[in-house]
Amino acid sequence: MRRRVPLSQSLGELLLGTDPAMRLRLGQTGLALLLMLMGMAVVLWAAWTLDLPRAPLVLWTLTSLFAIVMVYMTIRCGWSLRFKDPSLTLPQMAIAIACSASGYALMGPVRAIAFPNLLIILMFGMFGLRAGSALGISIYALLAFGLSMAVMSSIKPDEYPATVELAHFMMLVIVVPAVSVLSERLSRIRRRLGEQKRELTLALEQIQLMAAHDDLTGLLNRRHMQVLLEQEAQRSLRSGEGFCLALLDMDHFKRVNDRHGHAAGDVVLRAFSDTAQTVLRRSDVLARWGGEEFVLMQADINISRASATLVRLREQVSKLKLTFGEVRLQLSFSAGLTAHRPGESVTQTLERADRLLYEAKAEGRDRVVAG
Ligand code: GH3
Ligand code: MG
Ligand code: MG
Repeated sequence: MRRRVPLSQSLGELLLGTDPAMRLRLGQTGLALLLMLMGMAVVLWAAWTLDLPRAPLVLWTLTSLFAIVMVYMTIRCGWSLRFKDPSLTLPQMAIAIACSASGYALMGPVRAIAFPNLLIILMFGMFGLRAGSALGISIYALLAFGLSMAVMSSIKPDEYPATVELAHFMMLVIVVPAVSVLSERLSRIRRRLGEQKRELTLALEQIQLMAAHDDLTGLLNRRHMQVLLEQEAQRSLRSGEGFCLALLDMDHFKRVNDRHGHAAGDVVLRAFSDTAQTVLRRSDVLARWGGEEFVLMQADINISRASATLVRLREQVSKLKLTFGEVRLQLSFSAGLTAHRPGESVTQTLERADRLLYEAKAEGRDRVVAG
């Protein structure tokens, strides 16, 4: 069935597309276009009211609109993506400034309209520009307006008296660089904020990783496992399907530490967790519960298959070849395995697994006791 899309949404998608980056770019260009349209409306209104020569101004309006619509289309159809700056900031600014400076030459007594217009153009674009480009575009703006003023004061000195044009130009020489410096400063702040945001996101990801994992083995830590177990218990309550939980404890681990040192003990713990990763299914979750104890959760599996996993793990652990000095260690673990019963608490399941583990130890270690 076709999804019904509101007209405003489909119009928005037609004008701006669906890609967020593209929408941002076109939104900015669209706003510039809107401002330009309103500025032109003011110019045309003044031209009609003051009875200024209309033909050149109408031609100017159409040419300017055509230019900015072309820029819009270039961005909209994705052609501008091949450039380093797909927003085409510099070309957009250059075109808008050229329109503004040529408009200045045609507007006669209302030519001051061009000044706020120029400042808006500069503010719009400077956000995305680096210092070098900002300086370049400022010089370009001064040259474009300077040329317009010089030409007009020489061909129409009555309407564009040289002194007035010089005063206008001097004011631009003061204001344009100031605007570009301020805008550049703002854009630098914006860039720095962007960088800080990226660094914070990265740091947060690392912190989340660290908060959920054990440093030594890289396995999930107890805190995170507790959360997962609670979630799994809730899930099993809804689905009626339980999960298996095993408590594993390395046998005579204290001896490893005592005979070969703590560092050797750490190596053993890491080797155990690495081996476990190769044996377990993707859906099995192993966590370091503390010291040399681990918790294994196996979802959607019955206790005999869960037990088979542990038997495989025992085999692999027994095959581990870890030598310290002359001594080759023979590793083993004991485990208590039980099924979580929907409705009971995770603590109850863990306590049962712990009792079974105790039995496994009492019966002579290196075994899995299920119950
Ligand atoms: P059992 O077979 O009865 O489990 O004997 P065990 O020696 O394994 O049990 P016990 O609980 O007495 O000893 C556990 C030892 O694990 C004690 C502690 O020093 C050591 N241990 C705990 N955490 C770490 C660790 O992060 N690194 C190392 N190297 N040793 C650890
Ligand atoms: Mg222990
Ligand atoms: Mg132990």
